[in-house]
Amino acid sequence: MKTFIIASNNPKKVEELNRILNPLGIVAKTARELGISLDEVEETGETFIENARLKARATYKLTGMPCVADDSGLMVDALNGRPGVYSARYSGEGANAEKNNAKLLEEMKNVPVTRRTAKFVTVICCILEDGREIIAHGECVGRIGYRPVGENGFGYDPLFIIQDGRTFAQLTADEKDKISHRGNAIRILKKELEKHFAEENQC
Ligand code: IMP
Repeated sequence: MKTFIIASNNPKKVEELNRILNPLGIVAKTARELGISLDEVEETGETFIENARLKARATYKLTGMPCVADDSGLMVDALNGRPGVYSARYSGEGANAEKNNAKLLEEMKNVPVTRRTAKFVTVICCILEDGREIIAHGECVGRIGYRPVGENGFGYDPLFIIQDGRTFAQLTADEKDKISHRGNAIRILKKELEKHFAEENQC
C-alpha cells in the first residue's frame, strides 16, 4: 500500500477517502496517525482551490510525502455564492453549525422558493511523490429550506434539500456519500490517480 498523508484530522473524511482509495493500493493517514506534527494552515485563500492548495503544499513541503487536502463549502445563488469559503465561519466569532444555519435562514427569509438554489462544492488538491498536482472538483446541487429538517450529518445538512425533497440530514452516511460534493470529488480524484498509475506502469 502507498501511504498518502491527509491534511485533516477529521476521522470521517479519512474513512471516506480510504473507502474509495484503498482499492487503488492507497491508504490515507492523518499526520497524527503518522506521528508527524502539522501546524494548522490558515485558510487565507479566496477560492476553494486556493485553500486546498495552501494546505496540500504546506503538508508536502514539510513531509515530502504524497498528500491530499480539501476545502468545501456551501454556495447560495441568491447570496452571490456566499457563504462559500467562509462557510465554517459564516456567523463570525464563535461560529458553529447552529449559528451558521440561523444566519443563513435570516438572510434567506425573503427569498422565494424558486430562488433558493444552492450547491455544495469540494475541491481536493493531491500532490504526488514527484510534486505533480492533481485537482479534483466535486459539486452537489440542491436548494435551501425554510427550517432545519433531519438529525444526521453536520454543518448546513439540515437546510440543504436535494432533488427527492429530503435534506442531507435525512440521508444515511452511505446515501450522502453517493451524491455528495465530497464523494464526487473523491471519485474524480480516484479516476485521475488511476490514469497516473496506468501511465507510470507503461514507463
Ligand atoms: P471543510 O472545508 O470540509 O472543513 O468544510 C467547511 C465548512 O463547509 C464546514 O464547516 C461546513 O460548514 C460546510 N460544509 C462542508 N461540507 C458540508 C457538508 O457535507 N454538509 C454540511 N456542511 C458542509
